[in-house]
Amino acid sequence: MDGLNKSMYQIGSDSAFAILARSNELIKSGKKVINLGIGQPDFPTPQNIVEAAVKAIKDGHHGYTPSNGILSLRETVAWDFHKRNNIEIDPNNVLIAPGGKAIIFYTLLMFGEPGSEIITPDPGFIAYRSMIDYTGAKAVALPHRMENNFSFDADELLSLINDKTKLIILNSPANPTGGVVPESELAKLVKGLLKFPNVYILSDEIYSRILFDDNRHISLKSFTEISERVIVLDGWSKTYSMTGWRLGYGIYPKKIFGFAEKLAINCHSCVNSAAQFAGIEALKGDQSQVNQMIKEFKVRRDFLVEELNKINNISCLKPGGAFYVFPRIIKENMKSSEISKYLLENKFVATVPGSSFGILGENFLRISYASSVKNLKDFIERLKTFMID
Ligand code: PMP
Repeated sequence: MDGLNKSMYQIGSDSAFAILARSNELIKSGKKVINLGIGQPDFPTPQNIVEAAVKAIKDGHHGYTPSNGILSLRETVAWDFHKRNNIEIDPNNVLIAPGGKAIIFYTLLMFGEPGSEIITPDPGFIAYRSMIDYTGAKAVALPHRMENNFSFDADELLSLINDKTKLIILNSPANPTGGVVPESELAKLVKGLLKFPNVYILSDEIYSRILFDDNRHISLKSFTEISERVIVLDGWSKTYSMTGWRLGYGIYPKKIFGFAEKLAINCHSCVNSAAQFAGIEALKGDQSQVNQMIKEFKVRRDFLVEELNKINNISCLKPGGAFYVFPRIIKENMKSSEISKYLLENKFVATVPGSSFGILGENFLRISYASSVKNLKDFIERLKTFMID
């Protein structure tokens, strides 16, 4: 051993970043790579938001801010949350963080320890699992099956809870599937959770604005019976094309807020000041570019789903939200990691293997459609040649 603590050997990584690095290498060597791997919108941050950040710097906002975030931003988050969900939240329970990922990390540090269990979606966002493993807690997979529209089954979830269960992680609309949990399933879950008053829920709602068709977002926080044990994660990365700004938030129940804040003080001190001012403008300013982006995503989703389903041995659901499709792809005896690698190295298309999101992700690929329709058409052609190779 090299003296590191044992937990360091448990922590995983995010294959989407490794795939991005490899795509960039291929691009550097002259290959025309279509990047459908990483989960970030291909639109620029709206100009009004950029200008708000520039103004903040020019106005001299260069120093530390309060660790939980500037009050005006936390008030704006509470205002926006109320506008979208019709729920009053106290700005003092909002923790501004350097991206939604920090909220996942802090929350898992608060609940995870050897001997405890945390229920997490399978397939689900990679960081949940890897951070649960880091804390020494046992990750208990909550199936989100294609046959169930990539939602969970509330009875199945409730059957996974035992005395050791500390936290349940939910994510709707979901990464990697785009699945949306129906309100009826949430209501059933909430009713069942009344029997388990010590179990907290981290509700990752980072894609809550990116919804299509008749889907509408129901925040888990809106169920008053359990709202005092719901932690909401949301942020700016996806909705406002601000992945590189590193800005997100968590809404914590009052009784545990102080612990999250202490983690923030010890870890990131505060989020960079200009980004916080930009965050106010994002929520308060003109929303037309967000609406335009969602419209464009819908066109791309419809195109991809239709085209993918025309190919033999591929079947793809039409997801209700986010900007991913998660088709099942059967190709000889190839695992999803082999298919994804082959597509990148030989067809120059970056995707993420479904197996990186959990056992149930095997035989699927995550395709992020944060790329132009022209690129998506090109992708479909390249995929067709792979399927008949
Ligand atoms: N939750 C989910 C489900 C995500 O997909 C992501 C980003 N891929 C995050 C959280 C983290 O977002 P951020 O960039 O704000 O840290």
